[in-house]
Amino acid sequence: MEFIIAKSGGFCHGVKKAVDTALSIETENTYIYGEIIHNPEVVQKITERGIVMVDDLDDVPCGATLIIRSHGVGKAVYELCASRNIKIVDCTCEFVRRTQKIVREQHAQGKTIVIVGEKTHPEVVGLNGWCENEAYIFSSEDEDFSVLPQKDCCIVAQTTYSEEKFEKIIKNLNNIREKTVEVFKTICYTTIGRQNEANELSKKCDAILVIGGLNSSNTNKLYDICAKNCPNVFRLSSAADLEYKTIKGFEKVGIVTGASTPNAQTQEVLSKMEMETEAKATSMEEVVANMDSQPKFKKGQLIKATISSADD
Ligand code: SF4
Repeated sequence: MEFIIAKSGGFCHGVKKAVDTALSIETENTYIYGEIIHNPEVVQKITERGIVMVDDLDDVPCGATLIIRSHGVGKAVYELCASRNIKIVDCTCEFVRRTQKIVREQHAQGKTIVIVGEKTHPEVVGLNGWCENEAYIFSSEDEDFSVLPQKDCCIVAQTTYSEEKFEKIIKNLNNIREKTVEVFKTICYTTIGRQNEANELSKKCDAILVIGGLNSSNTNKLYDICAKNCPNVFRLSSAADLEYKTIKGFEKVGIVTGASTPNAQTQEVLSKMEMETEAKATSMEEVVANMDSQPKFKKGQLIKATISSADD
């Protein structure tokens, strides 16, 4: 069996900055507004440090520190924090911030704001908060675009939206509009790169493993793209979800990861597959007994290693 791993893996720039901040910041009286990323293992690591995750700003006391995740928030959150002396540590990704700026400026010019994305996704909710929550939000090309008022409109996309679907929505929208439609392609380069790679890889593999938190929007989009080209796509949130017997019959297996999937999680999946394919050793005694036959390790040898995660 041959494994091909997509080149773009691990945290994207925006997620890395947010996670690094949450893992290094002073934890006393520190809160995070929502899950820092859609990845349960990472969220757990951060809350275990003592940082409190809240979904409601009423739960953040005056004078506390509040981390804003990479998805960003609406204008009202900044105003509320200022009024209650809450110090903001702003990890809004620069690409999201750019979209927020477009929404704010275009709304101020009197244009109708259209956001293409998932209605309940925190980034979309935050973007809507920069145009008085008056945006029209569309998630699919089949929606009724005639509900839009007949005035100039500006269209932006959720940064992790599917490029292909975005193009279809623009086309359908342009077909029924007489007024000017100004399009801002705000899908971020990381998303586009990963989607293109997933598309290519899934065309040449017999099976694909898509690794990342099950509630991660960008990882789920990668799954959808792969599923169009390949009949055997498996969605894993971690190594625990991998059942080797389901993939052992395939010759070429591709591995695709979301922008919020830590490298360590991908590594765990690879290690598990390696263990299954190699010795099939299940006990520590067998592993130790086999050590001398392996070129990498010898019994009694001191090795230097990095612990990427640990449990009981
Ligand atoms: S996916 Fe793109 S927009 Fe979202 S955090 Fe990563 S770099 Fe920023």
